[in-house]
Amino acid sequence: MNKIFLTVDTECHDIRKENQYIWGKKNGREYGIGRILELGKQYEIPVNFFVDFAEERRYGREYIQRIIDKIKQYNQPIFLHLHPNFISGDESRTFLWEYDKEEQEFLLQEGIGIYTEIMGKSPAAFRAGRYGVDKNTYDLIDELMPDIVELSYTGGYDKMCHIQCEFVNTVNHYSKYKSLKIMPNSNYVALDFFGKRKTVGIDTSEMSLIEFKEFLEEADGKDFVLTMHSWNFIDRYFWSETHVGNHRTNERLFRGMVDLAKKYCYSFASIEGYDFDAEGADSDIKYNACDTVGKKIRSLFLNFWRFQQMAKVSKKYLIIYGFFYSCVIIVVIGAGIKALS
Ligand SMILES: [Zn+2]
Repeated sequence: MNKIFLTVDTECHDIRKENQYIWGKKNGREYGIGRILELGKQYEIPVNFFVDFAEERRYGREYIQRIIDKIKQYNQPIFLHLHPNFISGDESRTFLWEYDKEEQEFLLQEGIGIYTEIMGKSPAAFRAGRYGVDKNTYDLIDELMPDIVELSYTGGYDKMCHIQCEFVNTVNHYSKYKSLKIMPNSNYVALDFFGKRKTVGIDTSEMSLIEFKEFLEEADGKDFVLTMHSWNFIDRYFWSETHVGNHRTNERLFRGMVDLAKKYCYSFASIEGYDFDAEGADSDIKYNACDTVGKKIRSLFLNFWRFQQMAKVSKKYLIIYGFFYSCVIIVVIGAGIKALS
């Protein structure tokens, strides 16, 4: 009870942008995993790193070793994250469920092999890239990594995760499948209009503080997972391959979350060696951030803000928001001309 498992998926989708994905080094400062590690030390909290060991196959041993060495300097736990396309080389299949059982077995064995070789032990926790697991994956994990803590399951993300809520009987709380201890990627309903729902992760860069506070109230001492990525504190633009800076908004949000968590008597914990009792849907955390009319209106503003953040890192969102603000400017100018004439 009263535990938060902070996880950091550490991965680089494009080696030319390694500094923007992993390190965020600029003028002797670091805003990537170095910054996360420093904050973890400052707050004295365990940070559960999920390193995409599959990238070793494409970027080499030295690349992955540098990441591991850095995390080890701070004594934080390291687990197995696996984006299968870095092993298969097939960029059209980025989810494990896109591979048949035999192929999945090979991909998992490779991933486990790389982890074991570098870490000198077998992984205690696993998360598939893009949460892309299905029942075949679960059966294989049970065979290849029995008793492992499994963090791929994400309820309500049917397009990504092919394990259904009904199958594991949980949205946000522990469950079991064979020998797997399932620790769901916690999420909540962030938009709910006319039966259309959007689920968003309990993520340090996606959730607003007011929602996080309400989630803590709803959770009422039940454990949950808080996710982030290696680049969360790195300010970057999609049009630049080199620009990095400090993402102050995300860092402020993170600090606010840690402070709030403490206020609500939560402490942060390491997944390594943590003994949890499997509890099913009876004690689930189901938080809907828009279950009243007032909150529905609030959710529109919060989602507007949430996706605006994406404009810097996605061309699509830059176009959408660019179009929106152009319309606003045209309306204001139009109204001004009308008032003057
Ligand atoms: Zn990932």
